[in-house]
Amino acid sequence: MSQQEASSVFPPVWNNTHIYPSVDSAEFGSAMVSLKAGIETLSQACKYFDAPQGAHSDAAELIGELLQNASDAKATLSNLYTFVSSLTSVNSCDESAHEIIAQLSSLEAKLEQAEKPLVLFLLRAPEDVISKLLLVDKIQPFTYEISHGRKNSDQMLSQDQESMLSGLAVDGLHSWGRLYDKIEGQLRCTIDSTEMGVADAANLLMKPDPQVRKSAWMAIQKAWGGQAETSAAVLNALNGWRLEESRWRSHTRDCHYLDTSCHQSHIDRQTLDTLMDSAYQCRDIGHRALGVMAKSYRQAKLNPWDVLVPAPVLHHEEQTTIPFTDALNLIAAAFSAFDPEMGDFALMMGEKGWIDARPSENRGGGAYCDEFSVPREPRVFMTYDGNLSNVLTLAHEIGHAWHSWVMRDMHIAVCDYPMTLAETASIFAETLVLDALWEKCENDHDRFHIAWEDAHSAATFLNNIPARFEMERSLVEQRKDSELSVSALRSLTADAWNKWYGDTMDGADEYYWASKGHFSISSLGFYNYPYLFGYLFSLGIYAKKDKYGDDFVQLYRDILRDTGRLSAEDLIQKHFNEDIRKPKFWLDSISVVESGVKRFENLADRILDKR
Ligand SMILES: [Zn+2]
Repeated sequence: MSQQEASSVFPPVWNNTHIYPSVDSAEFGSAMVSLKAGIETLSQACKYFDAPQGAHSDAAELIGELLQNASDAKATLSNLYTFVSSLTSVNSCDESAHEIIAQLSSLEAKLEQAEKPLVLFLLRAPEDVISKLLLVDKIQPFTYEISHGRKNSDQMLSQDQESMLSGLAVDGLHSWGRLYDKIEGQLRCTIDSTEMGVADAANLLMKPDPQVRKSAWMAIQKAWGGQAETSAAVLNALNGWRLEESRWRSHTRDCHYLDTSCHQSHIDRQTLDTLMDSAYQCRDIGHRALGVMAKSYRQAKLNPWDVLVPAPVLHHEEQTTIPFTDALNLIAAAFSAFDPEMGDFALMMGEKGWIDARPSENRGGGAYCDEFSVPREPRVFMTYDGNLSNVLTLAHEIGHAWHSWVMRDMHIAVCDYPMTLAETASIFAETLVLDALWEKCENDHDRFHIAWEDAHSAATFLNNIPARFEMERSLVEQRKDSELSVSALRSLTADAWNKWYGDTMDGADEYYWASKGHFSISSLGFYNYPYLFGYLFSLGIYAKKDKYGDDFVQLYRDILRDTGRLSAEDLIQKHFNEDIRKPKFWLDSISVVESGVKRFENLADRILDKR
């Protein structure tokens, strides 16, 4: 099938019926039953490790088998989660799907409790015992997982305490996250007498008409303002829980919240500190971008509702909408020019119904890529509205999907890559598309639109994302002393904006902590810096494209395939012999950002004065 034919047949909605026909189907029901049975069997078998440690060093066969059984149960669980989440994403009011998510959350805790004796044994066993075990074939796929976990073995609690914590978290910690998701999905706002969900309203923030953006932002503020006490309670509960948990885990060595986050991100604390310092040192590059963006709209500064502002429609241009199929073909062509299989893959995602992008009522916000484990198939969710930013989001998510696709033959235990490295693949894909679009530009106006995206990214990653990090860090620090009031949250948001934006914005988005769901994800804190990490990490890798020539395509795939079995430091050391704990790697990437902003400034000089 040619690209053109393919594009005319795929509708941008999911087809997941071959995974399970529905949540009421016999297939879904039997997957639930076998998962429960698997957890029960695992729980009984793992009791073997309840006894003192020394007796188990010769139990290699059993350990290998149980690790595999636990891995299989996790695969089934993740399949069920992905399927049910696909329903709530499209319709956040799907009550039965929400009920199943709560059941799955409880099963997840049971699974965690079931394997706990084995996990604790592997974390605490002496090094010589572990080295021998890791030589066993069945255990080898779990090498990184075990070694990585052992770095924090001195912060583990007793088996009973760990089990109790997992059990209590279901209706404690995670119920707060579920509450936030429900509020976000159901929250309505009114713009020019039209009622809509906040996700739809957020899409209006990307419109070129300043009045539309302002009205949308005001309406979103009003909606979240009405939920401020509840949203503050969510943040207080999540962070209070995490701090108390850290306090318990600090029995031998201080368990700092950022160390916990770095461990989850598979990076060193020194790397995070260097990354944030480098961004702070270069924050003016983002300010320069924001200055030109404001000037393009004949404003002295951008307003809080302009954070997602697109390039202005200049008087002689028509605002163009890019049909979904054109967007997908464009992305596929850009990917193909780099790696033909990557381009075919993008088209296949459309043809097979692996993308859901059609607006729907009560649709969840944002965009994401998820994956079914059996069979290994990725899925992309977004709301497609036809603007350039949507095209890049689509490229971003398909970039994630390609990452999991190139790893589909690998053991699932080495495919659990952290968000820091996940964002590398997505931003790499975006960069491919932006470069392809740049090449196609016929005049400075076209180039200005593409350069706008570079400028926008510079401000997002060097100012906005770090401000989110700063805000969350202040929130956690203040939470150590007491719960935070709504006004305290607003004020620390304003302080964080001030630190990173300087005086380049006319005011801060003081309800950002409520309207941005990232701060209310129960499973992990500090969700935002991995975007900055991925952006600069990806640009750093992309910049080496020409140096490696034809070998780069394979090298890039090799890097992706190593993301679940190496730390970020080891990954770059292995493939490029560079140390990301040192500023040089990051400053080199930031110089790529700077040249993009410079290009934007030059174009603006050429065209804005001629308006
Ligand atoms: Zn992403």
